[in-house]
Amino acid sequence: MKKLLVLIILILISFYNSRAQDNCLTSASTPPEWIFSKSTKSSQISMTFILNVFVHIVRSGSGQGLSQNITSTIINSLNSNFSETGIQFTLLGSDFIDNDYYYDDFNGKEDELFSVNRKTNAIDIYVLGESTIWIGAGLAQNIPSTAFIVHGSFYSTSSLPHEMGHCLGLYHTHHGTVNEGGGDVHQCAELVNGNNSTTCGDYIADTPADPNQWSRNSCNYIGTGTDSNGDRYNPDVSNIMSYSYKPCRISYSQIQINRMRDFIKNTTILQNTLSYYINGVKLICTSGESFSLENLPANTTVTWSSSSNITFSSVNTGESVTVKASSSTVCDAGWIEATLTNSNGDITLPRKEVWVGKPSFTLFGTTSLDVGAPGIVLVDYSSGDHFSQGIQNSDWSFTGPLDNIEGDAMKAHYRASRREGGIGFIYSTQTNQCGSYENRLFFEVEEPLFMLASPNPANEYTELNFYSANEITEYQKSSPVMISVPVTEQSNGIGEYEIQIWHERKGLVKQMKSRSKKLQIPTNNLDEGIYFLHIIVNGKVHKQQLKVQR
Ligand SMILES: [Zn+2]
Repeated sequence: MKKLLVLIILILISFYNSRAQDNCLTSASTPPEWIFSKSTKSSQISMTFILNVFVHIVRSGSGQGLSQNITSTIINSLNSNFSETGIQFTLLGSDFIDNDYYYDDFNGKEDELFSVNRKTNAIDIYVLGESTIWIGAGLAQNIPSTAFIVHGSFYSTSSLPHEMGHCLGLYHTHHGTVNEGGGDVHQCAELVNGNNSTTCGDYIADTPADPNQWSRNSCNYIGTGTDSNGDRYNPDVSNIMSYSYKPCRISYSQIQINRMRDFIKNTTILQNTLSYYINGVKLICTSGESFSLENLPANTTVTWSSSSNITFSSVNTGESVTVKASSSTVCDAGWIEATLTNSNGDITLPRKEVWVGKPSFTLFGTTSLDVGAPGIVLVDYSSGDHFSQGIQNSDWSFTGPLDNIEGDAMKAHYRASRREGGIGFIYSTQTNQCGSYENRLFFEVEEPLFMLASPNPANEYTELNFYSANEITEYQKSSPVMISVPVTEQSNGIGEYEIQIWHERKGLVKQMKSRSKKLQIPTNNLDEGIYFLHIIVNGKVHKQQLKVQR
């Protein structure tokens, strides 16, 4: 009996492994709501979308593994599998990732690899080594996404267009009918009669309900089950998004094709992988700047449009146009758009965001300071940042009681005067190619009290005096023995303060508290020598050397 149990377990394990190792591991996240609304579904194939592909070949640290030749196989295979879809692929480039960490045992390292040498303007295809240990055949980063992993020689199987299908928004045909887990909260079983085919299953009406029971070595459905109505399943063995035997998977359904095209049109990360793109500057002044379309497909016309603060110098059609700011007073964000049209239809490419005119910003920061205190002011650009507004030069200055200011295109540091309070302005001038713009920030430095211990050197006593700014001269304020004490509005004067007298070797020798602006501190019982007065006001320690001499 025990032997039989072991045998059954062994069979189960080997069955599980043989299935797992050639399967797709892509997890199913929740689809965007627009796939459920009919209005966004395209009814016909319009112009061909050409997507950039970047192939990363993972090899051992010493360079063992697949060769660069596989890139042409990959592009050819994708283009032949997608030949009926109006979606094609072009190789943007390829590289090697020579790293034993990914090459030897890859399990659990999927997320890490997805961030290696990643491109934003291409679908990244990571091809693992043939000898690499990995539980899967393929894995798309998400549905949709712009990266997938394929295991060794699976790059030349239907795993390749299958994972690309996930990137372009497709679920497994058995999604929902077999609960796949993942994050998709809409998941529900598809009925054979198709009544719920747009809201359950793979959300694709023309793919039949699929319970995922396939022969592993022939193009046959091997299941016998029925759905909740008692109807027998009749899934499509040829669908690329099924788990049927790999050589049988050769086609997408028409609605799957429309869905992938809709995902390209509606998903920014996918739009960014289109091989054609708008080339031009980020800053537009009153002199003309040209914008052009790169990698334009054949027999395509281009119509340009823009935000209202940008005008076209002459025509707004053609591969390239010249634009300028609509007036010299414009300083605002803007955009340029291009719509491509050919005999099959049209597509509007992602907008190119630009800045029009001089910089525009406000300042915010520390506006109420104690004497001698540091402050910081930040530049708040009204749209984008100093890069998008093309800042080339920054100037900072001030009027009023500051000691200094130093800054750049993003911020400035400054320090309040140690000797005087008062009000003033911080000025910031930021300059881009279109010109300069100045803004200012009001600030206030709290009027300090001034403190002097005299006589010093002391014999019988020294007297501590607090003066307000108008009680002494500028000359007295700037004396090296005069200490300025910040008095914030809240504390309403000095309040109670503490005096400590520290000897340079003996430590603390005397301590007292007072509220008086004039305080006599007896020193007749102190030995001759060097002391330090610590005057603690509002929690802050002010130190002054005191010499006792007879
Ligand atoms: Zn899959």
